[in-house]
Amino acid sequence: MNEYDSNRIFDLAKKINYQKTESIGEADCYVLNTCHIREKATEKVYHDIGRVKKEFKNRKKPIVVVTGCVAQAEGEVLLKKEKYIDAVIGPQSYHKFNNTLIKLEKNTKKINFTEFDVADKFDNLNIIKNSDSNISTFITIQEGCDKFCKFCVVPYTRGPEYSRPVKEILEECRVVVGNGAREITLLGQNVNAYNFEGKKLSNLIYEISKINELKRIRYTTSHPVDFSQDLINIYNQTEKLMPLIHLPVQSGSNKVLRNMNRKHTIEEYLNLVDILKKINSSIKFSSDFIIGYPGETDKDFKDTLNLLKKVQFINSYSFIFSPRPGTPAFKMSQIDHNTSKKRLLIFQKTAEEIKIKYRKSLFGKKLRVLFENRSGKSNQFFGRDEHSNSVIAESDFNLKGEIKNVQIINGNHNTLFGEVNSKIGQNNHAA
Ligand code: SAM
Ligand code: SF4
Repeated sequence: MNEYDSNRIFDLAKKINYQKTESIGEADCYVLNTCHIREKATEKVYHDIGRVKKEFKNRKKPIVVVTGCVAQAEGEVLLKKEKYIDAVIGPQSYHKFNNTLIKLEKNTKKINFTEFDVADKFDNLNIIKNSDSNISTFITIQEGCDKFCKFCVVPYTRGPEYSRPVKEILEECRVVVGNGAREITLLGQNVNAYNFEGKKLSNLIYEISKINELKRIRYTTSHPVDFSQDLINIYNQTEKLMPLIHLPVQSGSNKVLRNMNRKHTIEEYLNLVDILKKINSSIKFSSDFIIGYPGETDKDFKDTLNLLKKVQFINSYSFIFSPRPGTPAFKMSQIDHNTSKKRLLIFQKTAEEIKIKYRKSLFGKKLRVLFENRSGKSNQFFGRDEHSNSVIAESDFNLKGEIKNVQIINGNHNTLFGEVNSKIGQNNHAA
């Protein structure tokens, strides 16, 4: 979501004649878009600002703006502690970005925008055309969260659940498809809680799938509790919806899930996995895990390992529990950090073995790959298969934006290598 937000902040700034620069030393304005989900986020801000300071030593300083969830959570403290920062703008106030810059250009004092007027934000951002021209792109459809998992800062930094109007989202989808997008990932902290005047995520996916040139739809991140029957059914109704579901489970222990306030049991989670596999046998799962949550015993951790093995997640993102100030879990009695570290290593080793086995099973198979861009070498193209695996294939013809059958020959840790099967028209010759 920060990637989407950063692009939209840039779309805004373009309106008042700012351009992107690759070199810090050239910048008139430095925007640091931050994430607050785990600790060290604030230290990273001070560290990054230190780099800018060094770069501009003995020169006129650039305008420095901190945006994102660190700005939201710690804005006032940041402004007091680091005088080099000129403004903090929380995620629901990005539409005030240009006015902030204009004021700062005139040397106005420090600015703090951290209100939660999310409807106002999207109303204002809608006027600015999304200029993203990537083959695979993101569109935020939902923000905030009402779930209040005990470890998570999102309800405090992104605010309550808000769903953008269907019409607005469809319009933005058409714009990015017009720019060249062939795959859209719909974003939300709790994307399957999307509900605009009774229209749910399934309705939205169905409407978006009618855009002709759009080939693929994905969404992230969904909560198991909000996986309603209509969303399950849509996997049978449009082939454009890709069969990889990111479905964070956090822990394999019912006791830990209860302590986290996750609102479902492992049995319910596994049942959902089964139902989804039955409706579409090519569906695979990825997940997030928190290791070393307060109260996690060896037995709880074993349950998590068992779940990992049972579902055979093709990607598992695991993190040691990070106590976030202001959340209920912050005050809970923490488990020994070394124990957490050991468990994380065991978890990641097992997850890796599952991933390697899965990736090896793809060797010799034919995968449908949407090519996104040219890779390092001139005749190599990078794309992703339906389960988001990275694939590189050689071609004398320009594959960007095309879906091709690729015969997988081999692969390494991150990438599969293959050969394109079908013949490609001469008019696509690589430029
Ligand atoms: N809404 C999604 C859900 O309910 O699963 C997750 C969104 S959250 C922004 C992304 C991931 O960050 C979570 O799935 C969780 O694994 C991780 N996370 C959040 N807070 C954390 C914390 N305090 N410590 C460690 N990991 C955390
Ligand atoms: Fe955070 Fe997701 Fe829980 Fe919401 S549902 S509080 S975003 S982990």
